[in-house]
Amino acid sequence: MAHSPGTTPDGQLIVYHGELFCRVANCERRTVPFSSTPNLRAHLRRHGTTVTPTASGRMTQDNMDAVITWLESLFISGEEE
Ligand SMILES: [Zn+2]
Repeated sequence: MAHSPGTTPDGQLIVYHGELFCRVANCERRTVPFSSTPNLRAHLRRHGTTVTPTASGRMTQDNMDAVITWLESLFISGEEE
């Protein structure tokens, strides 16, 4: 299974500037936004995940589209049988 656009090949989470929702399955914060991205990053570390260092600059639109598509697929797979 190919790694998702929101993680590195070795399994670290990539948290993009402006991201405010947790991605962990069944976490209540998947739908409740954090007040800031650093708060989200700290929260993800408490899940036991490894978060990549903050990337400088803005992500490309192509990457943003890929991440959005992936996040939507997570929600769909979690809500449907
Ligand atoms: Zn969470």
